[in-house]
Amino acid sequence: MTFKKNDLVEVQIEDMSQAGLGIGRADGYTMFVKDTVIGDQASVRITKVKKNYGFARLEKLLSPSALRTAPACPLARPCGGCQLQMMKYEEQLRWKEQKVRNDLRRLGGFSEIPMEPILGMEHPFRYRNKAQYPIGYDKEGNVTAGFYAGRTHTIIPAEDCLLGAPVNREILETILSWMRCYHIPAYRESSGEGLVRHVLIRTGFTTGELMVCLVINGQSLPRERELCERLRRIPGMASVSVCPNTRRDNVIMGDSFRTIFGSSTITDRIGRVQYRISPLSFYQVNPLQTKQLYRTALEYAGLTGQETVFDLYCGIGTISLFLAQKAKKVYGVEIIPQAVADARENAVLNQIEHAEFFVGKAEEVVPRLYAEQQLRADVVVVDPPRKGCGEPLLKTIADMSPERVVYVSCDPATLSRDLKFLCARGYALQRVQCVDMFPQTVHVETVVLMSRVKE
Ligand code: SAH
Repeated sequence: MTFKKNDLVEVQIEDMSQAGLGIGRADGYTMFVKDTVIGDQASVRITKVKKNYGFARLEKLLSPSALRTAPACPLARPCGGCQLQMMKYEEQLRWKEQKVRNDLRRLGGFSEIPMEPILGMEHPFRYRNKAQYPIGYDKEGNVTAGFYAGRTHTIIPAEDCLLGAPVNREILETILSWMRCYHIPAYRESSGEGLVRHVLIRTGFTTGELMVCLVINGQSLPRERELCERLRRIPGMASVSVCPNTRRDNVIMGDSFRTIFGSSTITDRIGRVQYRISPLSFYQVNPLQTKQLYRTALEYAGLTGQETVFDLYCGIGTISLFLAQKAKKVYGVEIIPQAVADARENAVLNQIEHAEFFVGKAEEVVPRLYAEQQLRADVVVVDPPRKGCGEPLLKTIADMSPERVVYVSCDPATLSRDLKFLCARGYALQRVQCVDMFPQTVHVETVVLMSRVKE
């Protein structure tokens, strides 16, 4: 049977896509259906037909899945940021674990998977320490903060995202009332006119320090003194800045910022390590689970104090400094110069002298250090972006022959591919730990320990 656009079809949802769409089949034809959950039986309207699969819209829920729960946020559906909020939290965890297990089997070729129970959160909301709200106009033309509705230029007001800190709302209300009071225009995406584009808010969960950064379409901000006067009344306010961004693309932040109140950075701690964070630096968004992740990485690294460790894709040195607590020497490698500058500063802040950082691509820097300085590692930790490490780097790592490789991954598919490669070069899969860094979303982090097989 062939389906056409607008056909009404009955499907059983059996799986979920990476984007959080329910996957159902009817007559062997696969359909992706938004707003459905594994286990739903639903009547759906086909919206797009492709050769091997199609997309459909939920028309009627015939029999709701036992995995369902009422979303805590009233805007979960239109916002779309929390793809899994309709699923009970323990089921979200089970699904993530299963996804990692399936990828390791299918793409990694592993049959025995030494997986430890996923580390979930006790309270899987309000975990984010960073929020970025677009500022614009609602349907009535009032300045507002929220999220863009579908592919439009209007903003649905939403000042209290349930993943973020409760104080965000007060901060946004303060900024919006200042804008109304002094007739400060919001940015209009459609025309590129107006001034205030985004508000970035960061919270140091362990210190209570707050950072606010206004991204503006221009260089100067009128009435900035009045803005600071209002914001500084909020307890914890430690840093207010403006960040010019006059580009027309969808990159949120500009390249530089100017502090207009307090300090240019705030401080946060993960375990015993302190980090100084600027509006432009990368920092993990879920500090509680980051601690779990790093603790696992540190445990898997099995350090005794004698080891030389490489931390590849080190960002601002977060993992490096964690490892440095138990290693003889840590070398971090990172492609973004500013992140490396932050890493060096963070090392000084923590009085860590045996961590050294290099700017460059891991796949270029590591072979060079190995060939030119005979630098080799006892333990290698990698934490690459979604595309994974890739063969050239893995080959050098295998040649260098460290005892252990600890792989921290945000993409189980590229993780599985890379582990398969390492297995063919003398390493064996020892331990696998999933960590739920992003509850309510489809993302999952995994830490894996690989050990060199003794000849
Ligand atoms: N380990 C850090 C950051 C991990 S995010 C933490 O836990 O905070 C991945 C990092 O890899 C980013 O900082 C990104 O800039 C960096 N990166 C991307 N490609 C790279 C490459 N080819 N070589 C080195 N670093 C790279």
